[in-house]
This record gives sequence, C-alpha cells and structure tokens, in this order.
Amino acid sequence: MGGLARVCGILREGWVMAGVLHGVVAMDGPSGTGKSTVSRRLARELGAAYLDTGAMYRAVTLACLRAGLTAESPAAEISRAALAAELHSVTDPSAPKILLAGEDVEAEIRGEAVTRAVSAVSAVPEVRDALVARQRAYIDQARAGIVVEGRDIGSVVAPDAKLKVYLTASEEVRAARRNRQDAKAGRSADAAATLADVQRRDRLDSTRKTSPLHAAADALVLDTDEMSVDAVHTELLRLVADRGMVS
Ligand code: C5P
Repeated sequence: MGGLARVCGILREGWVMAGVLHGVVAMDGPSGTGKSTVSRRLARELGAAYLDTGAMYRAVTLACLRAGLTAESPAAEISRAALAAELHSVTDPSAPKILLAGEDVEAEIRGEAVTRAVSAVSAVPEVRDALVARQRAYIDQARAGIVVEGRDIGSVVAPDAKLKVYLTASEEVRAARRNRQDAKAGRSADAAATLADVQRRDRLDSTRKTSPLHAAADALVLDTDEMSVDAVHTELLRLVADRGMVS
C-alpha cells in the first residue's frame, strides 16, 4: 500500500477508511431521522463499534411480550421480565444484531407487536436504569471509538461524549422513510398507520418522566428533511475531524 493510502487508512471492501475514530459519538433523535443508517456508516468507515440502544429496548420489550405481559401490565412486572432478559448486542457496524438468550431476534424486534409496546416498556425507570448501565459497559469496552444511537445518549448515557448530534426531520418525512424501510424489509407498510405510529411514539418518548427524548444542551441539531444520507455522512465526518476525534 502506498504512502497516501496509509495516511488515509486502509483500503477495505472498496472504500477508503478516512481514519480511526476515538471517543464517543452520541447520536440521538426521534424515529425515522436516519440515525441507524448514518451511525452505522460512520462507525464502519472509521473502524469504530456501533451500539443501537433502541434495539436493546426493543429486545427487552420482546422478552416482556413473550412472558405474557402487555404495554398495560404493571410496571413492576414489566421491569422484572425486562431485567431477567439475557441480552447481548453485537457491535460490529457491518453486521449489528441483538441476541436474547443467545437467539438472534433482530427481525422479530422490528415487528408491529414490539413497535407498539416499546415506548411503554422503555418509560419504566428501572428498565432504563438497567439498560443505561449495560450501554455504559459497552461504551467502556469499546477499544477505539464507538457510535451510539438512541434517544438519551448525549443527555444521560454518555454526557461526556465528544460529539453529540441530534437528528430531526418533519413527521411526514420520517414516516415516509420508516414506511420505505418497512416495505423493503417485507413488513406491511400502510402510510397512514406509520405516520400515526411515529406521532404516538414521539409523544410517549418525549413526555415520559425518566430521560425523555430531547436534544442535549450541547448537541448539534441537524435537520435532515432536505439532506441526503451522503450529505449527513459528509457533515458527520467533518464534525468528528473538527473535534480531533480521528487519527
Ligand atoms: O430507535 P428505535 O425506534 O428502534 O427505538 C425504539 C424505542 O425504544 C423508542 O421509540 C423509545 O421508546 C425507546 N428508546 C429509548 N431510549 C433509547 C433508545 C430507544 O427510550 N436510548
């Protein structure tokens, strides 16, 4: 490999690594803002780990549903089932997945039943405390950098993150994106129902008592309505370089 390529990083699977990330990038925002897509891409390109905290809340919700509970069950029962769940997140951004007692539940947690119940489960303070502790453990384990996406990463999980980004977009744009994603994954995708679900989860996530969804005071807010994935990615690369997080 020539000198220039060594400076830029290593050639891998057709792209040139722009460097190696150090530290934590906190990526927050509501559903459908493109957090997962841009977080994974950034982590992949910078040789970092990637943690999808939404998948963790979804997986414990699945554990609750499998235990026969519903979103309306008493909080004590929800927290007991959620805390007993044996979770493992695979933080490779090229193939992230979540295991529940060793079973890959990545597809099932994206289904309608979990999506309907997850905001209620994630509003239970004991559930949040337990998952925040696990999320911090993953952050501590990351040898180089890590990109962590969720709703409360910059405000609660990693308040010292060197870069905090809060992605936004209008409800309509977010619902349309979610709809396209669902259709691509073979899930039923009714536009009106998706918009209603986005609005319902926004309301529940931003009005809950414990760590509601909001941009941390020092987060950089990016409105992605008019931004392509490439444009967001380029902006993120500029921001991590700007903060001296890339070597
Ligand atoms: O990101 P995703 O849409 O998969 O998240 C699913 C749900 O998990 C959110 O609607 C929210 O209720 C919850 N969540 C949370 N805190 C996080 C990540 C997700 O409360 N850090």
